[in-house]
Amino acid sequence: MPSTSTPFEAGAPVHLPFEGRYSDGRTAVSRRVRIAIGADSLVIGGDDGGPAVTWPLAALATGEPIVTRSVDVLVHAPGRSGPTLFVADPAFVRALGTAAPHLTGAAVRWRAARPLLAVTTSVGLLAAAVAVFDLAPARGIASLVPYETRARLGRSVVGSLSAEACTRPEGVVALRTLQDRLTRAAGPNRRFEVSVVDHPMVNAFAAPGEVIVLMRGAIDQAKGPDEIAGILAHEMGHGIELHPEAGVVRGVGLALLGELVLGGSSGGTIASAALVVTTASYSREAEREADTHGLRILREAGISTSGIAQFFERMLKSEERTSAQNRRMLDVLRSHPQSAERLAVARASTGYPTTPALTPAEWAALRDICRKPE
Ligand SMILES: [Zn+2]
Repeated sequence: MPSTSTPFEAGAPVHLPFEGRYSDGRTAVSRRVRIAIGADSLVIGGDDGGPAVTWPLAALATGEPIVTRSVDVLVHAPGRSGPTLFVADPAFVRALGTAAPHLTGAAVRWRAARPLLAVTTSVGLLAAAVAVFDLAPARGIASLVPYETRARLGRSVVGSLSAEACTRPEGVVALRTLQDRLTRAAGPNRRFEVSVVDHPMVNAFAAPGEVIVLMRGAIDQAKGPDEIAGILAHEMGHGIELHPEAGVVRGVGLALLGELVLGGSSGGTIASAALVVTTASYSREAEREADTHGLRILREAGISTSGIAQFFERMLKSEERTSAQNRRMLDVLRSHPQSAERLAVARASTGYPTTPALTPAEWAALRDICRKPE
């Protein structure tokens, strides 16, 4: 008989030391169950010794993050797909926090800064790896990976985002116009691919393989196309310097790149890579490198830097206003520090002939790129 999640025979002598209530998520009734925490899964058995189900630890979510003082925990089935488990036993909560660090307060706070991703992999280790972001050696390794492989990873990352891609045709045409103008300015043999995703965050990020993602929030709040050009040029700077690739090497390791070279990669590793590139908080040095490229690209493209200067200026104002909590959510501030210094640099980089990044009609089309067809 096929059995998907019941590796234990009914009545098998499995020691399930904890007790909790299991709810199927469809009815209000819950039933008493026995639970064990395995090396990589939670084993839940019927109180009557019936068949056990296993939930992979890495895919679990909890109602609230586990903190030191937690006395009970509500655990959601992988994918938050209905069933839940409630355990009111501090010893279980502690053991679960140790076995699945991504459920702890520290990990969840860190992750909350980017609600974009439906990430189901073990976040704790990645968080630690990215926190000690040291680009230089990782970048050396990343530079050995062929462009096609990096681009495949970048596109997979974009595909794994929970936000939908924006594809209104007129908007896509405008986006390509801007993308091509900036790509030509970036230098020979550049192949940037820019996509817009329907997410309200004022943000953009670079994924491996010269893949750039712009969030709708950035377009919504921009006062003109030059601002968007400035943001994209900056992200292209990260791409040129292989910052996203280096982040993946540091955060996920060579194993993932090896897998990609061989052609296969699991959803989990892609999700891990996605987590790294969307949450990467680059060093000041990396940001300066990206800024330098960004301003150069704008100059080559004949686009004014006053757009990006205005953008920084507005961000700086909101930086002064917003609480630390809100600031974390406003990613551009979080991952793009030192706005004041950068504002000065961008303001000083004028003095060449410019034309608007897009015509008024193209800009109107880009602003509508996420609008659904009537
Ligand atoms: Zn940056």
